Amino acid sequence: MSMTLTLLGTGTPAPSARRAGSSYLVRFDGRTLLFDCGPGAYSRLLQTQALPGDISHLFLTHLHYDHCADYGVFELVRWDQAAGNGAELEVVGPGGTRQMTERLFGADGAFAADIAARTRHPASREIFERRGGRGVRRAPAPRVTEWEDGLVYEGDTWRVRAAPMVHCEPYLHSLAYRLETPFGTVVFGADTAPNSRLTGLARNADVLVHMCHFLNGPGVDPRMSASCSGHLDAAVTAREADVRKLVLVHLAPEMDAPGNQERVRMEAAAAFSGPIIVGEDLLTIAVADGKRPAISRRTAHQR
Ligand SMILES: [Zn+2]
Repeated sequence: MSMTLTLLGTGTPAPSARRAGSSYLVRFDGRTLLFDCGPGAYSRLLQTQALPGDISHLFLTHLHYDHCADYGVFELVRWDQAAGNGAELEVVGPGGTRQMTERLFGADGAFAADIAARTRHPASREIFERRGGRGVRRAPAPRVTEWEDGLVYEGDTWRVRAAPMVHCEPYLHSLAYRLETPFGTVVFGADTAPNSRLTGLARNADVLVHMCHFLNGPGVDPRMSASCSGHLDAAVTAREADVRKLVLVHLAPEMDAPGNQERVRMEAAAAFSGPIIVGEDLLTIAVADGKRPAISRRTAHQR
């Protein structure tokens, strides 16, 4: 049994046909988890032959739109197609996630008219029943867990730890996530400047997925380097955390200019000796092969 990571979106807020907004799909042992859901993620998900209903949990690193703008369409399709069957989506994110969810799907939310029509109109009722729906149709109601210090989110055979990053406080809060499964460990570094909490969270992970928003060098504005990571920041974090593999994402269009990916690979390799993958949308990466010992279960917060 193996564990795979599929990069759905490896871009930034810059419009790009090549790179959708941040989003990553993790699959292991019949489970499918989604980390971030930036613009274009829903379309990329369909390109993998997966469906929103395959996904049980969505983890949001932060509420910049390039990481969450497709949350609306993702959840609406998931809810609509399920027709009342199956579990509600579990959503984990920083403070503000519950408010965003309510403002999207709540009674006074952005999609209130759509949801009212789909739950009450006779034609929608016919579609609902054709999809297997029975009884009163309920509105979408994702179950939101907002991160708090010390939270360990427990799945059935897996768990997720998080740590607050250094990004755009106090306006929004960014979380890095560490997913531990019997098949491997992957860390999503989120959007952040390098910091010791990320290095600690990523310690000995099989894969670190980290932002490579710019090319480190003297020309970088300190306001940028104080809130985001460049290629050498990612490589040094990977080295200090002793991860096995580094996956670079959140790639600005300049990264795709001639010669820049080569520079990224060469300079990052001087700082980190493990495999370095410059991300592309729809690339699937083996996190680790084979089954590991089961993770110990010291439950701080069970769901
Ligand atoms: Zn951000």
